[in-house]
This record gives sequence, C-alpha cells and structure tokens, in this order.
Amino acid sequence: MPARQGAAVEGSQAMPVDRPDLHARVAAQREQRAAASARRTRREVLRRDGVRCEVAGADVSPRTLLNFCSNDYLGLSQHFAVVNALQDAAARDGAGGTGSHLVCGHHALHGALEREIAEWLEVPRALLFDSGYAANLAVLQSLLGDDDLCVQDRLNHASLIDAARLAGCRLRRYPHGDVEGALRQLRSMAESAAMLATDGVFSMDGDLAPLRELAIAARVQNALLYVDDAHGAGVLGPDGRGSVAAAGLDAKAVPLRLVTLGKALGSHGAVVAGDADLVDHLAETARPYLYTTALPPAQAAAALAAVKLARRDHWRRERLQDLVQRFRVRAEGHGLSLMPSDTPIQPVLCGSNANALAMADSLERDGYWVAAIRPPTVPEGQARLRVTVTAAHEPVQVDALADALAVARDRAAHTAPSHAA
Ligand SMILES: *Cc1c(COP(=O)(O)O)cnc(C)c1O
Repeated sequence: MPARQGAAVEGSQAMPVDRPDLHARVAAQREQRAAASARRTRREVLRRDGVRCEVAGADVSPRTLLNFCSNDYLGLSQHFAVVNALQDAAARDGAGGTGSHLVCGHHALHGALEREIAEWLEVPRALLFDSGYAANLAVLQSLLGDDDLCVQDRLNHASLIDAARLAGCRLRRYPHGDVEGALRQLRSMAESAAMLATDGVFSMDGDLAPLRELAIAARVQNALLYVDDAHGAGVLGPDGRGSVAAAGLDAKAVPLRLVTLGKALGSHGAVVAGDADLVDHLAETARPYLYTTALPPAQAAAALAAVKLARRDHWRRERLQDLVQRFRVRAEGHGLSLMPSDTPIQPVLCGSNANALAMADSLERDGYWVAAIRPPTVPEGQARLRVTVTAAHEPVQVDALADALAVARDRAAHTAPSHAA
C-alpha cells in the first residue's frame, strides 16, 4: 500500500464513523421475521427416489417423505435417458462450462438444444441461459432502458420484477389478470418503448394469464409481449409447447417467451425463444448472458433428452391432468380452499403464516412434504401450502394427500398458533 494512503487509513481510526451497522440491522430483521413466523429454513434431501425423498430433520432422524412440492411435473429429472445423456456427455466433455458462450464455452450440445427447442416451439430462434432468473434479467436489461416502460402483472415472478429494476426502466404493475389495467398502464406512457411481461402460469397460484387478450392489448399499444412460461412449458398446449401455444398464439403475437429447463423438463437452465432479431440481439448484448460461464454441456445434453421425451410422451401430460382433477375433487370434497387452477400447481389457502406452518408440520408428521409459502412470496394474509402434483405420483398417493390435508387443517384449528420458526 502506498505510504500516503496508509497514513490516511490510520488517521481515520481515531474517529469511528457513526453509520448504520449492517450486523445490527441483520439481527433486527431476523427477530422481526421470527415474530411473524417468517423465518426460512432449508431442508436437506439425503436421497431422492422419484416422488419419495429421504429428508434430514431439524432435530429428528432422517425420514422418507412423499414429495408434493417439487416442480418436476413430468417426472423427468430421474428418467434414465436424461441421466444417461448427462453421464455420457460429462464423460466426454467434463463437468464444467469452461468459459462464457462468446469466448470458448459454446458447445455443439448447446446449439443442438437451442435448435431442438426452436423447432418444438415453432419459433425461429432460441438462446440458452444458465437459469430462468438470469434469462429474465437478460431480456429486460438488453431491451429496455431508462426512458422505457415495462408493464407487469402484480403477481409476476420475482425475477421479472428484479429484471425491471436492473434495466432501470419504469415499472408499472396492474392487478392480477386485469387486461384493462394493463392497457391503462400502457396508455399512461404512450411515448415510451414498452414491454408487457407476464407469467404464463402464475407460480404461486397456478392460474393462467389471459394471453389472448394481453396479446391484443400489446398489439394495439405497439408493446412487446414477453411470456415467462416457467410452469407452462412441457405441461400445457399441443405437444407440451406451453401456455402460448395453448392460447393459440405464435411468435408474431408473443415475440419472446421463456422456457425454463429446471421444472417440467427435469434438468437445469432456461431458453428464451422467439423472434430471430430479438434473440440474436440478446446473444450479443445481454450482460447476464455475456458475463457468465456457459451451462455445462452435459447439462444441455440432459435437457435435450428431456425435451425429446416431453415432446413424445403425451401420456405424461394426460396422467398429470387426471391426477390434478382427482386431487381437486377429493380436496374440495373435504372443504379445503383451493384456488381456480387446472395446472399442477394446486395451492391450499391457509391465511396466517402460523396456520400454514402448523399445517405443513402436521403433513410432515404424516409423511408428506408440502412447502408453506408465505409473504413476501405471496401477499400478506394469503399464506398457503403450495401443493404440486406430478406425473410420477400414484392416484392413491394423491387421494391420501387430500385426506391428510383435511386432517392437518383440523389439527391446526385445534392448536394455538404458537409456532414461530
Ligand atoms: C422458477 C421460475 C423462474 C426462474 O427459473 P430458474 O431456472 O429456476 O432460475 C422464472 N420465472 C418463473 C415464473 C419461475 O417460476
């Protein structure tokens, strides 16, 4: 260190600066979360065997739970063809991505996956990202700037909200599913370039965006419609092409959409698909694309195998739909509060955080793993158990879960809400 700088640092030690202390702030925030039953903990999965998970307990020995909170909707994450593809590619090309796509990281397996997805979705182009979170940051950051407008559904995924912040654009939100509200927000800044961004399937509610109406709104307002189809791809529409295809829309109406590979496609990563000029622009300018290491090629090989299975195995979607309807009928028969969803996301509303936690605990005692979702992930007072059904579940397991939910609700009603962690 140069002598003069060293002297300056030593001199300042005499007078500590009275700025807010970050350790103290963190401790205060942790106490607030504890008081609101809003502490968050992770569970360690010791072994995963389809829908059965061996899970380490906080203070109990490991136990096997039936998993009703994963996003592995088609049951592909442990499919032998998917895992074999990953193992073979890793044996040939290694475990890492070795560099960013624009330096030396772009592998033929990445290209093959992009082409397969573009063909599947019937769009000109697709670009692979390390995650859906990064892809959303990339799309908004590379297309929108300070003077631009991004209009979003109030219940959009957090990554879309963060993406608008990173882009620096004006973010205007509209009430959930309210197309008139979206139009109002677009009209309020008619001079600005604009994007209308929505989840295709809402991740914590399971309902669908009114995509046909939103497409009309975007067209008349000359705004670009971007659909985050993290939970629709593989599950909805002809050949599992997702919520955009299910709504009968094409790449003209929806110039860009996001397909994540870590949910129904059972692997990892994400693809932005659509208009060739826009996608090529992302590949050259999006910072979350340029300044990160490429997905390992072996991971792309796994996703490629999964996409082929998802396209081919219609029975997985049919089985999933049957199980979803079966769950709804049985849960409603027990008087449980479901939401208007026909997708594998079947939240059960619990009200308070404490009630949601008590029900989740009760389910766990009976051998079921369902995540309690609390604010800020969902609005205040709308804590819920986010039940997800997959094609890998058995009908009897779905029935038993609905019955266990009713028991959990009754138990929680009879215990004081004393749970705090
Ligand atoms: C999960 C999710 C993402 C993020 O995708 P990852 O690949 O997990 O980073 C983005 N949008 C929505 C709606 C999601 O549910």
